[in-house]
Amino acid sequence: MKTYRIATIPGDGIGKEVVPAGQRVLETLASSGSSFRFEFENFVWGSDWFREHGMMMPDNGLDALRGKDAILFGSAGDPHIPDHITLWGLRLKICQGFDQYANVRPTRILPGIDSPLRRCGPNDLNWVIVRENSEGEYAGVGGRVHQGHPIEAATDISIMTRAGVERIMRFAFRLAQSRPRKLLTVITKSNAQRHAMVMWDEIAVQISKEYPDVQWDKELVDAATARMVNRPATLDTIVATNLHADILSDLAAALAGSLGIAPTGNIDPEQRYPSMFEPIHGSAFDIMGKGLANPVGTFWSVVMLLEHLGENEAAAKVMRAIESVTANPALHTRDLGGKATTAQVTNAVCQHLVCRP
Ligand code: ATP
Ligand code: MG
Repeated sequence: MKTYRIATIPGDGIGKEVVPAGQRVLETLASSGSSFRFEFENFVWGSDWFREHGMMMPDNGLDALRGKDAILFGSAGDPHIPDHITLWGLRLKICQGFDQYANVRPTRILPGIDSPLRRCGPNDLNWVIVRENSEGEYAGVGGRVHQGHPIEAATDISIMTRAGVERIMRFAFRLAQSRPRKLLTVITKSNAQRHAMVMWDEIAVQISKEYPDVQWDKELVDAATARMVNRPATLDTIVATNLHADILSDLAAALAGSLGIAPTGNIDPEQRYPSMFEPIHGSAFDIMGKGLANPVGTFWSVVMLLEHLGENEAAAKVMRAIESVTANPALHTRDLGGKATTAQVTNAVCQHLVCRP
């Protein structure tokens, strides 16, 4: 029987609630007639680890993860530790260390979920946003001089390399090609940012020639936000820079009903290293420990993890279980206007997996 080695990193806040729930779904799946099993290893890194050791994860942490088939991540963030420390010290360290250069964020309106878009039917919003995840605005290059003085200045330098843009563009075209509509929108801000963004546009034209069956267009990021709200059905696959896609995907998650539902995958398309899957929400300390966290974003991330392992049938099975739960208002958590708890939603998904093999 095939064994997949999965690392779980719950991290902070509600990550500690939703990641164990995700692990339970995988365990239930494996024990209900699957041809594979999982071997989990749990890593207690994050802000508590930081308070004890002065860092979010150990120096040799990547070595411990290297041999895994995938990583299920919760969130990193703590009200008492600056965000740039929690973010760079754990999540980004793994993303960059394992060159997970494609961040993939599927968005659609699940059965039973209301979109804030009044005129949006359930089939009008079915996107996957591809975010460049290794460079660009979040390259981490820059500095501050003369801190606290009137002449203080600071820079965050965005770095785009031809190799970096070509590989994410190729990934996006390939993904668009694999979806029924074969439709890609390339987002830039090349009217105002006239160096890297112009190169981005040029590379899009170049790579598009490798995928003649993909229909594609360009959109400026500001116009793209309006288009997402006003004409959602004209979009399918979307590719954008690190910063732009970060913003667009929060908008997308909100339009699909709740931050608590949205999943993401940090993918190394070349499969040299493990890829990492996580809900897009953060640590949400306001609801921590109360059983209020919606685990659906983590479950959908589990679906992406299974797809990444090539277990498409199992992935579809978990997705059906998720949809059966979202379709039932009695199983909606508070963020969706309901009263269900994390445990109730998790039990319902697991029950569905057991009862409908
Ligand atoms: P971080 O600093 O780690 O980004 P955050 O406190 O900013 O975390 P987010 O996770 O970004 O919180 O979410 C914002 C708000 O949305 C939370 O305060 C919470 O109330 C709500 N929320 C987020 N995720 C969920 C979820 N899975 N279930 C229910 N509510 C959620
Ligand atoms: Mg936040």
